[in-house]
This record gives sequence, structure tokens and C-alpha cells, in this order.
Amino acid sequence: MGDESTSGENTSGESASDESTSGEGARRDGASETAQRERAVLGAVPSGLLIGGAWADAAAAATFDVTDPSTGGVIRTVADADADDGIRALDAAVVAQDSWAATPPRTRSDILRRAFDLVRERSEDLALLMTLEMGKPLAESRAEVVYGAEFLRWFSEEAVRVSGRYGQNPEGSGRMIVSQRPVGPVLLITPWNFPLAMATRKIGPALAAGCTVVVKPASLTPLTTLALAGLMQEAGVPAGVLNVLTTTRSGAVSAAIMADPRLRKLSFTGSTEVGRGLLAQAADGVLRVSMELGGNAPFLVFEDADLDRAVEGAMVAKFRNIGEACTAANRFIVHESLAEVFTKRVAERVRAMRVGRGTEAGVQIGPLIDERAVTKASSLLRDAVDRGATVHTGGAVLRGTFFAPTVVSGVPAGAEILRQEIFGPVLAISAFADEDEAVRLANDTEFGLVSYVYTRDLARGHRMIDRLETGMMGLNVGVVSNAAAPFGGVRQSGLGREGGPEGIHEYLATKYTLLPND
Ligand code: NAD
Repeated sequence: MGDESTSGENTSGESASDESTSGEGARRDGASETAQRERAVLGAVPSGLLIGGAWADAAAAATFDVTDPSTGGVIRTVADADADDGIRALDAAVVAQDSWAATPPRTRSDILRRAFDLVRERSEDLALLMTLEMGKPLAESRAEVVYGAEFLRWFSEEAVRVSGRYGQNPEGSGRMIVSQRPVGPVLLITPWNFPLAMATRKIGPALAAGCTVVVKPASLTPLTTLALAGLMQEAGVPAGVLNVLTTTRSGAVSAAIMADPRLRKLSFTGSTEVGRGLLAQAADGVLRVSMELGGNAPFLVFEDADLDRAVEGAMVAKFRNIGEACTAANRFIVHESLAEVFTKRVAERVRAMRVGRGTEAGVQIGPLIDERAVTKASSLLRDAVDRGATVHTGGAVLRGTFFAPTVVSGVPAGAEILRQEIFGPVLAISAFADEDEAVRLANDTEFGLVSYVYTRDLARGHRMIDRLETGMMGLNVGVVSNAAAPFGGVRQSGLGREGGPEGIHEYLATKYTLLPND
């Protein structure tokens, strides 16, 4: 893939007529307008820590730079919290906890609903901000704003639907009341790949349940969370209920907060490796935990699949979010009778994909988040090729952090790409002979987040629901995420569920009370 396809609008081949000269001027005006708008959106983001309802510098006045992954250029500087700031944020959450828990559910619901409206109103600014700090194409950032906002709306609805039980005990001697109480102050740690949705998926249910929170966004993408926090203040979230810490010292800050006995729960989304370490720390304080960790999703195409649908599903399951999604299809396991035609069809589609800065019109693949991500995708691909796999398109770094969307087939068992999350735009295909082999290959991983299955046989579909060891499954569909659905994994992909009616229960503790009859 050449430079043209990586540089957005292709202006080559125009004549040097007056018309094109004035076209050049118009383009320059357009470019400066765009740059101005980017500056305005970035400039409007609060740069401090949000603690107890006030924006403040880090106590040590430290700051860090946030960069645009497509250029490496600095786009903003934000406060860099240390462990003392972490404890100040927890202090604020603790102070606000009782009154927030006592706030009528309808009031909490109304605030979340206003936050939903504000996010939708400011969706263009939020989408641009996300593209600037994370790199994904603007169309995908817009889709994430819609998806992320839904968690605010869904949990504004759930806030008033928390119910309990009342009944006689089996002995007939007393009445049992089962009620739900907010867990208490919660630490929320989010990743960089979905900067808005991963924050609202935790903040929404926590606030709906009556918990106060300290949010720590990823240091690579703190701006969207800061902007969201500003909107939530506007929506009426009281001081201390939502606190935000941006930091490059994630380990030290979270360890200090987690060692404090006033913290009641940790909700983490990120890699399995970091999650494992946090689980060990949580054991010391016997903290409640929710863990949304890594994935290694199989994408099964059976011999009776609708091939058009399977190709369509593959494109979105693999290339949404530049392949940087925990739900990204990591292993395409295709029946041997279809492997060749499936490979040819997806390779054709991938060859036509447009790579470039996420802000450019028509771009489908933005930059990877950083050099480390590029190195990982490159080395996984090299390992597969060294073991005999064939690259059909892509296969190389185009420039900087831009990795060409790639299709590779004939990936043999044992290849690293089948064991690790690729987190990049590489579609890796292996073949299988029969259903038992497909299931064995699909389950041959320590992860269990999501699986995708393409078949027209309903009975086989049901068998796959039972046999595939994942928390979620897409049956003839390539995206499963929905605010109304319980999102989460089994095995080392995590503990707990986010979204759906289940989501709010992660932030509630069940209380049982017994009363005598007389
Ligand atoms: P990461 O584990 O490196 O970081 C996640 C968060 O933890 C960030 O805020 C980071 O700053 C923080 N962190 C890093 N080290 C820490 C430490 N020692 N102590 C406390 N906090 C620490 O993950 P990432 O690279 O930001 O995100 C990508 C990973 O997240 C992938 O594995 C992906 O599958 C996973 N993910 C999972 C889901 C899900 O719902 N299951 C959703 C999105 C992403």
C-alpha cells in the first residue's frame, strides 16, 4: 500500500489551472478551519484533577503531555496525580458517599439522564476529542459517543428499578426482607481503547446505585474522561460524587487508594496482566471487584454459513477500532471448504481500505496507539509467517504508527498470534475439518470474552451457545456490544458484567433482614 492511501484526500493529478489554484486556497482555508476547531475542542477540556467538585492542579504541580498517536505531537498537558492526590480524591468520595446514597433514586436518575442529553448534544466535540487522543476514525468516534451515552440513559432508567424481596421464612416464624444498598466508594480504572464508553459503562451504574467514585482514565487518553466529567458536573452531579485523577503513576496511585480501608470496590477494564496484579492487591482489603480483561475471540465460519454475511461480519469484528478492541476477532477459524474463498473475499475488501489520520474523510484505519502496539502486531505477524502462514495483503508498517490492514492465512497451531491479543488490524485465518475440531480450536485459550459463529443451521447455533466457553457470543453478527446487554467474560477475561440489568448489581450489596412475626 502506497503513501497516497495513507495521506487522506488524494490530490494528485490535478492541473495547475487557476481553478485548481483557487481550489488550493479553499483547501488551505478548510485546513486552517479544521486546525482551529481542533484547537478549540482541545482548549475546552479541563486540565486539572477533579476532586470534591473543584478542578485543581496536582499537589506536586506535576503535569504530563497527551499526544496525537497519528503524529506523535503534543495536543494537551494535564495534571499528573501522585498517591497523595489519590487519597485526597478518595477523601472527597468518602465525604459525599452518605448523602449520595440517601439522594432519591429519581434525582440520581434525572442527573444521569441530563448527562446523557449533554453528551448527545456535544457529540461532535467529544468525537473529535476522542479521535485526536486515540486515533480512531471520526465515524467510529461518533458511534462510540452514541454507544457510550447509552450507558448513561440505560442506568438513569435502572436507578429507579432497584428492588428487593419480602416474604415469610419457611418455618413461618418470621418475615425476611432482602434489600440492596450501594457498595460504597469505588475506584474505576479504564483503558485507552474506548475512552468514553469504558468510562460511562462504569460511572453510569455506580452513580445510579448510589456509589461515589474516583475515576482513573488511561494516561494515553485522559482528555475524553475530563471532558465527560465537566459535562457531568453541568448535569448536576454533586461535589465529591465523581472525582477524576489523571496520572502517569497508575500503579502507585491505585495502590494507595486500594490500601485505604474506606474504599469498598474496584472496577477495572484493561489487560489481563494488570488485572491479575490488581486482583492480588484487592485480596488484602477483600475488596469487591469487577474485571473486564483481555480477549482472544474466535470467529467460526461453518461450511453452511452465509458467506456474504460472514465476510461483512469479519470486517467489522476485526477492523472496528483499528482492531484495538477486547472484542476484536483474533482467530478466524474457517471450514476447509470455504477457507480459500473466504480469504480471497476478505483480502479484496481489506485491500480497498483507506488508512490515514482519523480526522480525514473516508479513513477506515487510523494509527495504532503507540510504537509498542506496532512492535507487537509486527512481531506476531512475523512469527506466523516464519511458521508458514501466507500474507495476502498488507503485512507491514506504512509509516510511524500506521500499520497496513493485513490478511494472513494458513496460520498453524502454535503460532503466537493465536495465543495473544493482536490489538491491531491483522486478520489471521486457520482452517478446520469438522465441528469438534472447530470447538476445540475456539476453546484453546485462557481467555473467554466473546465468540462469533456463522452458520445457517439453527441446531448447530444452539450447540455453539453451549459449547463455546465465552461470556458473550455473536451468532451471525460481528458486534455484540449493547448497553442493555450484560457485557463480560469467563475464564481469564474477567469477573462480573457491565451493562444490562446485571450492570447495576456490581455496585450493590445485598442485605438480608429477619423480623419475628410478633
Ligand atoms: P492496561 O491494562 O495497560 O491499562 C488499563 C488501565 O490500567 C489504564 O488506565 C492504565 O493506566 C492502568 N494501569 C496500568 N498499569 C497499572 C497498574 N500497575 N496499577 C493500576 N493501574 C494500572 O490496558 P490498556 O492497554 O489500557 O487496554 C487494553 C486492554 O484492555 C486489552 O487487553 C483489552 O482487551 C482490554 N479491554 C477489555 C475490555 C473488556 O470489557 N473486557 C474492554 C476494553 C479493553
